[in-house]
Amino acid sequence: MSGESKPNGPAKIVALPGDGVGPEITEQALAVLDLCCAAAGRKIEVVEMLIGGAATDAGEPPLPDKTRDACVAADAVLLGAVGGPKYDLLEPELRPERGLLALRKALGVYTNIRPVKTFAPLAEYSPLKTELARGTDLVVVRELLGGIYFGIPKGIDDKDGVRRAYNTMVYSEPEIQRVARVAFEIARGRKKRVMSVDKANVLDVSRFWREVVTDIHQKEFSDVALDHQYVDSAAMDLIRQPSKFDVIVTGNLFGDILTDEAAVLAGSIGLLPSASLGDGPGLYEPIHGSAPDIAGQGIANPLGTIASVAMMLRSSLAMPAQADRLERAIESVLTQGIRTKDLGGNASTKEMGAEICRALEPQA
Ligand code: NAD
Repeated sequence: MSGESKPNGPAKIVALPGDGVGPEITEQALAVLDLCCAAAGRKIEVVEMLIGGAATDAGEPPLPDKTRDACVAADAVLLGAVGGPKYDLLEPELRPERGLLALRKALGVYTNIRPVKTFAPLAEYSPLKTELARGTDLVVVRELLGGIYFGIPKGIDDKDGVRRAYNTMVYSEPEIQRVARVAFEIARGRKKRVMSVDKANVLDVSRFWREVVTDIHQKEFSDVALDHQYVDSAAMDLIRQPSKFDVIVTGNLFGDILTDEAAVLAGSIGLLPSASLGDGPGLYEPIHGSAPDIAGQGIANPLGTIASVAMMLRSSLAMPAQADRLERAIESVLTQGIRTKDLGGNASTKEMGAEICRALEPQA
């Protein structure tokens, strides 16, 4: 999986603040990363580079070559967010989102990992009844580089005078095996339960998905419990009994939808982190966008980006103890009732970052 730097070498990080609230939240996350590395006696080298609208503003494409080259050579990449109304009328190839898609492709990140946890003191912010939301602690592992989003043939054409459109859902065995392995490995460090989500009652590709996941399970991960569920039924259970899930593994299309559904369970989109991993550097980013409606006001919640740093410490920098410490610091600050505006509080982005840093300080 993701390229791990030697535990004693400097951690080489490329930071891509991007657009909107991106620079505000990334600044806080980098301060936290600095503290965690210092606590572990690990040197860190951070370079900030342009992506998205910030790059096109500087006369560059949305993923400048030098940004791509630096990311590919790094241990990990931390992204804020890209996009905004200012860029909506640009040519498709200049749109900020193109920069992000090109970056994912350049890094070969085939797995997207989104943990969703409802912190007990925030359960009341979930759209679900508090008793349902409480106890939600799941991870969605989504295949990111295959399936119907990339399958060919695709297109819109005219057949015998009738216009039609089509896409192809296709998965090869190795594509399924590699994402299944990631899910089983993650489950091993948690409650050891994987739910593979598909539509095997209708789709051939889903029947194949199920067969391959079952095979990997039997041969390599029989210590982990594996169940299968149809995507429509899983979508219902995510709101009916979210605490039943530990690790969900699914393809690109179903994962796209289920990750957004799962995201609302936590109470604010500003809380949630993500990691996209392949065989090289990992890409870490909050799940939200550039939040243009609050950009520049200093009120964005930086915790999704800070929690993404915890994922980076664990998955790309071989510093799991620091990752655990940082996650405990986030929980402790929320338990103290310190909240940004999205959670009904009045802490600014900077104040929230400073509180996390304070919670990371060694106790006297
Ligand atoms: P968004 O996630 O930016 O915002 C949705 C809502 O959530 C807004 O009300 C926003 O204020 C709020 N929000 C988001 N992050 C927050 C935070 N950290 N703290 C507090 N509130 C927060 O989604 P959108 O408005 O649909 O998209 C805005 C732009 O972001 C668009 O240009 C879109 O293309 C882009 N986008 C980028 C990414 C990415 O960079 N990965 C992801 C999604 C959307």
